Amino acid sequence: MIKSFNILYSQKSDLFDVKRRFPNYPSEKTLIQVFSGQIKKRQIERLLHDLKDVFQGVPIIGTTTAGEIFDGKVVEKTIVVNISFFEFTTIQTTLVAQYDDLWSVGKTLAHDLTGEHRSPQAPSFYGGVTVTPTNPQAIIVFGCSIKKDGLKIDASPMLTALYEEFPQTIIAGGQAGDNGNGIISYVFNADKIVDHGVVAASLSGKYLSVHNSYNLSWVPIGKKLTITKAAGPRVYSIDDRAPRELYQYYLGQEVVDGLPLTAADFPLVIEREGIPLAIHALGVNEDGSFDYIHSFHSGEQVQFGFCHSGLLTLGAKKTFNELRVHPAQAAFVYSCVSRKWILGQDINIEIAPISHLAPTAGFFAYGEYFTHPIGKCLLFSQTMTVLTLAELNYTKAPIITTDLKPFLSEEESKQLKTLRVLHRLVETSAKEIESMNNKLAEMAHQDCLTRLSNRRYFDQKFAEEFNRAQRSQEPLSVVMIDIDKFKLYNDTYGHVKGDSCLRGVASALKKSLQRPGDFVARYGGEEFICILPNTDFEGGMFLAEKMRQNISKLSIPHGTSTVSHHVTISLGVLSLDKITEHMTPTEMIVMCDQQLYSAKDQGRNRVCGHRIS
Ligand code: GH3
Ligand code: MG
Ligand code: MG
Repeated sequence: MIKSFNILYSQKSDLFDVKRRFPNYPSEKTLIQVFSGQIKKRQIERLLHDLKDVFQGVPIIGTTTAGEIFDGKVVEKTIVVNISFFEFTTIQTTLVAQYDDLWSVGKTLAHDLTGEHRSPQAPSFYGGVTVTPTNPQAIIVFGCSIKKDGLKIDASPMLTALYEEFPQTIIAGGQAGDNGNGIISYVFNADKIVDHGVVAASLSGKYLSVHNSYNLSWVPIGKKLTITKAAGPRVYSIDDRAPRELYQYYLGQEVVDGLPLTAADFPLVIEREGIPLAIHALGVNEDGSFDYIHSFHSGEQVQFGFCHSGLLTLGAKKTFNELRVHPAQAAFVYSCVSRKWILGQDINIEIAPISHLAPTAGFFAYGEYFTHPIGKCLLFSQTMTVLTLAELNYTKAPIITTDLKPFLSEEESKQLKTLRVLHRLVETSAKEIESMNNKLAEMAHQDCLTRLSNRRYFDQKFAEEFNRAQRSQEPLSVVMIDIDKFKLYNDTYGHVKGDSCLRGVASALKKSLQRPGDFVARYGGEEFICILPNTDFEGGMFLAEKMRQNISKLSIPHGTSTVSHHVTISLGVLSLDKITEHMTPTEMIVMCDQQLYSAKDQGRNRVCGHRIS
């Protein structure tokens, strides 16, 4: 069984008590984790000196913090030392002193942490062949979080690379803090302190049982917003407004005045692979753009998120219930600094219960590492993550029962209900508005007579396709279509019949299209236009001829037409093999129109086309 002790360190003698109880414990079965709210390098050096003196040879991993957790209580600017003595678990640690190529950092960590477990003959992944080494049950990782230019680091590539090597392992930990200053953060082992690197410990042993859980509690609320311009973790516009302007518009001046701290109250919630992530702004730039810890992509949808103590309590209860069914002899909380800032005293609601399970230590981080059941190790923000460990050298695990006071008072339950109902009200209204907006957008794009796309939408779509073809150097064809002698049709049969003829022609044209990218719109009056992306001259002519035949086949009687007894169309095709710099969308339409005129001149009910190579 694991024996885990937490020490609030201020001097060497603080370490003696634990040392006296385990005077000759094997160092390879012991792990020291340090959570230091003292950010100065010299203080860490002094601590390491004392630790090495008292616990000779014991592996150490440590990080600076933005708040520490000592026996389930939140403390600040202290140094918390956790010493865990294992019976059957072997510990290995490593430090990688770079943080630029995070993918390779992950691979190096994996290599370092398995070196000893691989048989000498086994090829390593460096040899290009992946072997399955003895997998550690858990890996605890602390990474530096601040770049020299002050930007925060998105460690996702490192976690992905590490998880690829150890898909069976629970990877946990978080990113070093510096009490919210955002200037410098350190991680360290027994021998080295770095401000640009990562430290990790692997825990391997067949009796080791590892569990993890997390609590976010922030829920999305209000309108869905779209990231319209982003470059990595810097977001320039959301819904075509600078983030600062957007926050001001939706959340008000009081939030903008307190940025970026106040942005943590209302982070952006985004769903990635079914997991909601809350991502708050870390920095506000002069142009109104925001820096986040995660990277965003243009087109991604986000919502503001919000939280209150009721939601937090429910989440805390869920986390606790998930963990309590597993035996725990040591518990580690790697939580987000913004939880501490926002929740204040309420933070104890979620941390205190954990310490009923096992001795609990941890820290408040600038990003948390969490291995999710979907089969990924993710960088979380704004989240409390918990890791529990136990050694089970017997077959049946004990079920832990703990008497806890009720999570919610009656008054709190009432408030929670009100907030829950309000949330539902806002969400329902937002959904209603969203579906109305979608309908309106659809209507704005549609021609109400034929239900084809209208001229306005065609112009937009054509500009997009033109640019795309120009970039990809792919051919592009357009087809213009005009009903023959349609004025006479109206004069003969009346406008009501004329309208229904237009509808019939429109629907037959649409049915003639073959590829999902092909697009037809009503261009005006009795004229239609077709865009055929990645289609050459032969393809364009083929489709135009098919359209002509399909309209003939409708056999709509036209007694006064000089062309035929039924309704016919004339078509002009223009194909560009590739679009040169000099060509414009308008020129392309003009040239296509000329082909339509040729078809009319040559007697109607035919296709004329031109190819520009
Ligand atoms: P051409 O073979 O040269 O194309 O002769 P046309 O009669 O088809 O051409 P013209 O441009 O002289 O006449 C087009 C007619 O289309 C005029 C108008 O009566 C009819 N038209 C345009 N829009 C609509 C509409 O929405 N509904 C109906 N019923 N008729 C329309
Ligand atoms: Mg016409
Ligand atoms: Mg006509």
